[in-house]
Amino acid sequence: MNYISTRGKAPVLNFEEAMLTGLARDGGLYVPQSIPVFSADEIRSMSNLSYEEIAFKVISPFVGDCFSDDELLKIINKAYSHFGHKDRAPLVELETNHFLLELFHGPTLAFKDFAMQLIGQFFQVALERKKSRVTIVGATSGDTGSAAIEAFRGLDAVNVFILYPNGRVSDVQRRQMTTPSEKNVHAIAVDGNFDDCQAHLKDMFNDFEFRDGVKLAGVNSINWARVLAQVVYYFSSAIKLGAPNKKISFSVPTGNFGDIFAGFIAKKMGLSIDRLVIATNQNDILHRCLSSGVYKIDSVLPSISPSMDIQVSSNFERALFYATDCNGSEVSDLMEQLKSTGQFDISGSILKKLRENFDSGRASEDETHSEITYNYQNHAELLCPHSAIGVLTARRQRNADIPMVTLATAHPAKFPTAVKNATSVFPELPSSMADLFEREERTTNVENNLQSIQAIVRERI
Ligand SMILES: *Cc1c(COP(=O)(O)O)cnc(C)c1O
Repeated sequence: MNYISTRGKAPVLNFEEAMLTGLARDGGLYVPQSIPVFSADEIRSMSNLSYEEIAFKVISPFVGDCFSDDELLKIINKAYSHFGHKDRAPLVELETNHFLLELFHGPTLAFKDFAMQLIGQFFQVALERKKSRVTIVGATSGDTGSAAIEAFRGLDAVNVFILYPNGRVSDVQRRQMTTPSEKNVHAIAVDGNFDDCQAHLKDMFNDFEFRDGVKLAGVNSINWARVLAQVVYYFSSAIKLGAPNKKISFSVPTGNFGDIFAGFIAKKMGLSIDRLVIATNQNDILHRCLSSGVYKIDSVLPSISPSMDIQVSSNFERALFYATDCNGSEVSDLMEQLKSTGQFDISGSILKKLRENFDSGRASEDETHSEITYNYQNHAELLCPHSAIGVLTARRQRNADIPMVTLATAHPAKFPTAVKNATSVFPELPSSMADLFEREERTTNVENNLQSIQAIVRERI
């Protein structure tokens, strides 16, 4: 399987190259040249398989001959061996025909572990084989960074630098990034917001001298291998609920559009998905865009769901690519407009195409808070604020006859303040993390400036 850029001007790569590269050299994102489609019978035949076995079936057509079947099986089995639940992604019924897909049983308690643990194993095998080293730089609104550090800590062939917005991540998120003691782990607190961190990261990839000099590799949610890992739980959950014989809808707490885009890929692969609901917090650029046709960057407002405090939603570019019938130059033009004017207009055929698959909604801070309270009082369920936004949007928009799955993207203990404020219950960390607040922290503070960040990376590798 080959991979092409959403902007149509970067070299065509295989799976391994696309994974190690992250961002394409024309500024675009890699997508597969074609998307494999499963028949209803093939999907039906997955109904008695384990999570790992479904993962193998879903992932292998995209990997091509970069990894043998045997290697891929080992990689998948290792990736999920540290998860705290035998189902990996268990489904829980919240109310009639509305389910929570619990994606927080991985080592850092958020769904990012599904992709990052897998990518860590892929990198390990690929780099050992090539006998080469890479420098991973990631930007995080909190959960990607801890998941990446957890996946790459102690690996010989990798240095990992994580840029996070200073003071804008939760204490648990920060401590998960700053307490690992391995020498190849570098947590960098940037005096800016997440969009600044993400912009610095993009600029590092577009600085080819730097990029090639430090052998830069990307594991942000734009990395195709991450999207691919996330496709698996759409299959495992929909099949449990009756796919391919039944249609299933999903509500997805959304920031960078990576998780919900994986659902779109699952649908393209033949999974019987009805609606994909984009659930945003007050940073609602995607909801505004789906409602009005104008994608317009606003300022980022800090919220109680910080992992979704994003205005530039990177993976949305992939959705635009498919909504323009894979027209790289049209996508390029839109992204240029965004860069120069801070907005673009897709109110014609592109918007129509997007609406064929996606619905959207937003939750204010007060609504998020009340939704956490409501679910605790009525369903004895402690939801993290992100998951609560997904549940609220699902409840508002769902068709009662079609099973709705809301992705529960993080464990409530990752965001204890918001949960306690809404329920008076302090959500406890699982025992594997009970001493998190006693471990020593190690972080490097840096001004909001590309050159300063690059200097730190060069000096440390
Ligand atoms: C990253 C994250 C999201 C947003 O996911 P995207 O793929 O960026 O849309 C939602 N909830 C939590 C807890 C997250 O960590």
